[in-house]
Amino acid sequence: MTCPTQIHINTDALKHNLKRVRELAPNSKVLAMVKANAYGHGLVRTVKALRTADAFGVACLEEAMMIRGAALTNPIVLMSGFNIAEDLLKIIALNCDIVVHCYAQIEILEKCNLPTPLRVWLKIDTGMHRLGFVPAEVHKIYSRLCACKNVQPPPKLITHFANADSLEEHATLQQIENFNRAITNLHGEKSLANSAGILLFPQTHADWVRPGGLLYGVSPLPNDIGANHGLQPVMTLTSKIIAIHAYAKGAAIGYGSTWKCPENMLIGIVGIGYGDGYPRHAKNGTPVLVNGHLCALAGRVSMDMLAVDLRAYNNAKLGDEVILWGKGLAAEHVANWADTITYELFCGIARRGQN
Ligand SMILES: *Cc1c(COP(=O)(O)O)cnc(C)c1O
Repeated sequence: MTCPTQIHINTDALKHNLKRVRELAPNSKVLAMVKANAYGHGLVRTVKALRTADAFGVACLEEAMMIRGAALTNPIVLMSGFNIAEDLLKIIALNCDIVVHCYAQIEILEKCNLPTPLRVWLKIDTGMHRLGFVPAEVHKIYSRLCACKNVQPPPKLITHFANADSLEEHATLQQIENFNRAITNLHGEKSLANSAGILLFPQTHADWVRPGGLLYGVSPLPNDIGANHGLQPVMTLTSKIIAIHAYAKGAAIGYGSTWKCPENMLIGIVGIGYGDGYPRHAKNGTPVLVNGHLCALAGRVSMDMLAVDLRAYNNAKLGDEVILWGKGLAAEHVANWADTITYELFCGIARRGQN
C-alpha cells in the first residue's frame, strides 16, 4: 500500500490570508512569521506564496538560507538573533536583520569589525520573560547600539505578548504600557502585535505587525476559528479509509479497549496515526470528515491508523477520502479535542518530513 496520508497546502489561501491581515492592520507593514518550517506548511512554498510580505521572521540561519535559496530578496529578521561572532558574517551574507535581546550580543557587536553595519531590532521584555532587555535598561542599550559602528541606527523596537489571546486583557494592557514607557523619546520603527494582538489590540499594530497563525488561516483565540475572521485554512491533512467492519454492540475498539460500540454498527479504519503527526491525545469523539460527512474518532489513535464511528455515514466505502483537518473541518476543533493548539498540530506534521 502506498501511504494514504497527504498534506495539501493551499497557497491561494496563504495569499488571501495575507490580504486579510493587511485589511485588519491597514497602516502596518507585515513581518510574516515563517519559523519552524512555516509552522509546518513548508518554508519555501510558503515564502514564495507570501512574496509580497514586507519581511519574513525566522528562528535560525538555516531558515534564512532556504529563503535566499529561493531567490527571494525580502528583508528577513532573525528573531532569536545570534550567539557567536562567527554568525555575523553569515548574517551579512544573507542580508538579514537581527534581534538583539541580551548583553552578550551587544558585547560581540561592539568588539567585532564587520564589513557592513547590521540592521537590528532591540527586543524589550515587557512581561513575557523569554527574550529581551528589561524596560529600565532600554535607553542605555539603545544608546550603545546607536554608538556602535557595526549597527545601522536607529534600531527598531520590538516586544512580544504573553497573553494577547486571553479574554482577560489586563496583562496585555500592562505590557503595552511597559513598552510605551520604555521607548519614550526613542526613534525607530515599532512592533508589538502577534496574531492575537492584531485581532484584539488594534492600538498595538504600530509600524510592523507579526502574524503567524493568521497567515495559516487559524485563530489564536479560545473557542474561535479562522473563518470567523474571513481567513481560509491553508493546510488540509487527508488520508483514506483502508478497512470497514461491522461490529456488534459492545465490541471494543483499539488499544486499551477505551471505546465500545454502543450498538451494532460500522467502524472505518483510516490510514493515519500519531506517526504521521495526528495527535495521539485526540479524544473519543474528535471530529473526522469521511467523504464530506462528519464522523467521530473511536478509541485510541495508533501509530499509523485510527478508527472512526461511521454511524453518521453508513455508506462509507474503502478508499473514501478522509479529512483530518483543513478544508471543511477547522483544525482549531481538532486541537481542542486533543488538548493542544493548532500550531502544535501543524508543526507535528512537519517533523515527519512529508513536505
Ligand atoms: C512566533 C512569533 C510571532 C507570531 O505569533 P502568532 O501567534 O503565530 O501570530 C510573533 N512574534 C514573535 C516574536 C514570535 O516568536
